[in-house]
Amino acid sequence: MSKATETVLEIDLRALEHNYLYLKGRLRPETGFLGVVKAFAYGSDSIIIAKKLEALGVDYLAVAYAKEGVVLRDAGIRTPILVLHPLPVNFDEMIECCLEPSLYSQKILEGFLEAAKRKVQKDYPVHLKFNTGLNRLGFVGSDVDYLAAQLNGREELKVASILSHLAASEDLNEKAFTQNQIEAFEKISVKIHKKLDARPFRHLLNTSGIINNPEAQYDMVRSGIGLYGFGNDVKIDKQLRPVATLKTVISQIHSIAPGESIGYNRAFVTHSPRVTATLPIGHADGIGRQYGNGKAHVTIRGNKAPIVGNVCMDMIMVDITDIDCQEGDEVIIFGGNHTANEFARDAATISYELLTGISQRVKRKILSE
Ligand SMILES: *Cc1c(COP(=O)(O)O)cnc(C)c1O
Repeated sequence: MSKATETVLEIDLRALEHNYLYLKGRLRPETGFLGVVKAFAYGSDSIIIAKKLEALGVDYLAVAYAKEGVVLRDAGIRTPILVLHPLPVNFDEMIECCLEPSLYSQKILEGFLEAAKRKVQKDYPVHLKFNTGLNRLGFVGSDVDYLAAQLNGREELKVASILSHLAASEDLNEKAFTQNQIEAFEKISVKIHKKLDARPFRHLLNTSGIINNPEAQYDMVRSGIGLYGFGNDVKIDKQLRPVATLKTVISQIHSIAPGESIGYNRAFVTHSPRVTATLPIGHADGIGRQYGNGKAHVTIRGNKAPIVGNVCMDMIMVDITDIDCQEGDEVIIFGGNHTANEFARDAATISYELLTGISQRVKRKILSE
């Protein structure tokens, strides 16, 4: 593997394939698989990830917002794309790009129906999202009569699936809550089956659901973080391979005398002679200020170098007093033995936030062979 000479996010498609096959292997062979590629495929590269997932044979892709799906269609992705959080302003473009909405309210359903009429659609695939406890988006069970009245005999739309989303599938202390959500989804399914002419397929589980509640896999699962190498579970993490590794280089080394300060607002003052390395990555690249002042560390030649002082917009300084290294040496921000999950945890956040925050300024490098 070549050494980094600037800040680069390496994206390992072999790891993606491994994770996909691992997660598939935990499911019944006939269960469909939706790959979640929202937020630049969890901060990596949505086009490249979507192309790889398409080649691997996923049944569906999902994005959060319509624009993310348009980018994939423009890149030639042909797999069905579910838009998890559609907004009325995007309905016409969604239809033009064959993006399938997750309908979550009366306003959204009626707005989408109007758009489908305007664009003279027949059997346009839509999905009905139900709120079973997350209290974020979705219809509730008592909306099923309304849904039947709106959708039965309606030529323009076809209900392809129904879905819900678990609130705490990674938290084993919340097993009872998750069970309640599964039961609520089950009840809604029965009602839908009774009242709706359509025979939609069903999906509920995210990555942690696949791990902890495989009995509720229904017809398809929706995985994001697991594809990128994290399972919200120490044992599962050992089976997965992180897709993204963030690397940079040492720009300059400083010897700092006792009593001097380092960085903005003089947040770090030395008590003993220190050696620091300045790195070309800052909060504008996605390493937020919460990682500064000793919270997180980077790895240089296998050694831990804590971030000293405040994170700047374009740079961080790290303490290399006890590390034998030189200007130009490679630095691992996260990856390898110090995963994004651990890096995030050191600053009391989660891998999802760290990964999706890696900004578009950081060069992406694809590893595929
Ligand atoms: C983001 C998202 C997922 C994927 O969740 P992971 O925990 O990353 O697997 C699945 N379903 C919905 C509705 C989502 O918003």
